[in-house]
Amino acid sequence: MRIEGGTGADLAVLIRRVVVDPVTPGSVPDVIGGEIVDVRTVGDRIDEIGPHIAPRPGDETVDGRGGPILPGLHDHHVHLWAWAAAAESVDVAPPAVDSADSLARCLRAAPGAPGTWIRAIGYHESAAGLLDRETLDRLLPDRPARIQHRSGALWVLNSLALERLGLDPPPADASTPLELDTTGRPTGRVWRGDTWLRERLATFGCSQTPDLAAISRRAASLGVTGLTDATPDQDHASLAALIDARTSGLILQRLHLMVGRDALGPDGSGPSTSASAAPGWPATITPGPVKVMLDDERLPTFDELVTLIGRAHSSGRPVAVHCVTRTQGALAVAAFSEAGAVPGDRIEHGSLIGLDLVPTLRRLGLIVVTQPGFLHQRGDRYLADVAAEDGRDLWRLGSLLDAGIPIALSTDAPFGPDDPWSVIQSAASRRTAAGRLIGPGERIAARRAVALFCGEGERPRRRRVVTRGGPADLVVLTDPLDDSLASGSPTVLATVAAGTIVHRAEAG
Ligand SMILES: [Zn+2]
Repeated sequence: MRIEGGTGADLAVLIRRVVVDPVTPGSVPDVIGGEIVDVRTVGDRIDEIGPHIAPRPGDETVDGRGGPILPGLHDHHVHLWAWAAAAESVDVAPPAVDSADSLARCLRAAPGAPGTWIRAIGYHESAAGLLDRETLDRLLPDRPARIQHRSGALWVLNSLALERLGLDPPPADASTPLELDTTGRPTGRVWRGDTWLRERLATFGCSQTPDLAAISRRAASLGVTGLTDATPDQDHASLAALIDARTSGLILQRLHLMVGRDALGPDGSGPSTSASAAPGWPATITPGPVKVMLDDERLPTFDELVTLIGRAHSSGRPVAVHCVTRTQGALAVAAFSEAGAVPGDRIEHGSLIGLDLVPTLRRLGLIVVTQPGFLHQRGDRYLADVAAEDGRDLWRLGSLLDAGIPIALSTDAPFGPDDPWSVIQSAASRRTAAGRLIGPGERIAARRAVALFCGEGERPRRRRVVTRGGPADLVVLTDPLDDSLASGSPTVLATVAAGTIVHRAEAG
């Protein structure tokens, strides 16, 4: 039995009076499903399931009150630092912010003392066009501000912010992600420069460490027991800080951590950490794939992408490629086809996948890790923005599953809604916020969507089940699963992650 770091002994949890819900048929033995049982976990495994298990000294107990118990949810694609920071930021997303005026009102109402930083997120150019420093200066002249585009690809800084960060005039180093106009003056835009900007904020004494504990507690309250961080340019320090946060108990869930291409050595000799035992990492953290970001403006050549995939594979890492456009999907699938795929290779998002790609996806065994939550959150804008012929390829789900393509679901928090139950509801309804349907043929049953959150972090296609010897990653709901799903937002009675109670509803 693996002993979790820090506890010194195997914790035991006795969950009394629950009904094991198979989520989808056949995943638990019939003899257990449907009966009221007790479930006892020891360390990070389920040790016993049966009627009336006697508590032993030292057992922590939870009364399940007859509610269903199912595998805890693993959210297969989030961005932990961005999520934690978003939780402390001003939301300037449409439809609440739909004009320059409403943007100005929102920014001026931001909490914080005069002169302190404002961090705003979710901006879309439908409100006041593509922002630059001049526009922001007019809207908010007296506090340094940085505003993130909802894609996550762009930050815009006002003049005060540029000044505080020593960016006006720009630094001599030409390799920064800071956009300059034709005269060499910063426009305020920083493209794909999260890490650079974070370091700059720290260097100039302008940063606050975001509170990872708060988002982890929220996830636990929703029944989430595992999180995959899919941040593309995670540097050593932020990766180490995530590992610390898990080890010290700030983060309650299991973590599966992707790395950037920089983690690979120049000749593919980079850290070989594909096995679960990464040196110095506790058992609750596993190393993930190399994350490759694609951007239509600056796509790698086919050969570059093939080489990168090959290098990752030869250092023992699968590859996860960000694909949100038709071009990106086609390029990624062609490159995997040339380089060869290994288990664990993934397509992230898969927002626009033509049926022509399906046979190759299936042959290569690529997993598509997608986010139906965007249908609700952004669907109305998609319908306005994308060409009619693209509509049927938006966020495919049912057709991919029917074609035998493995799928895992995720929230993409903070860019998508961070509640997996709302993602499940979107997968089942395919409704936009305004109630319009997108791809009704792609709907799947809500239970099937729950199951797509029940894969392992490292092997999303391997379903976890509530069974003796299975992982002690569990969620107990107050109401039967079908009723809970019908309500849209189930009440989570208790969450157990890696054998520790990480959430308990107030007794009531
Ligand atoms: Zn993402």
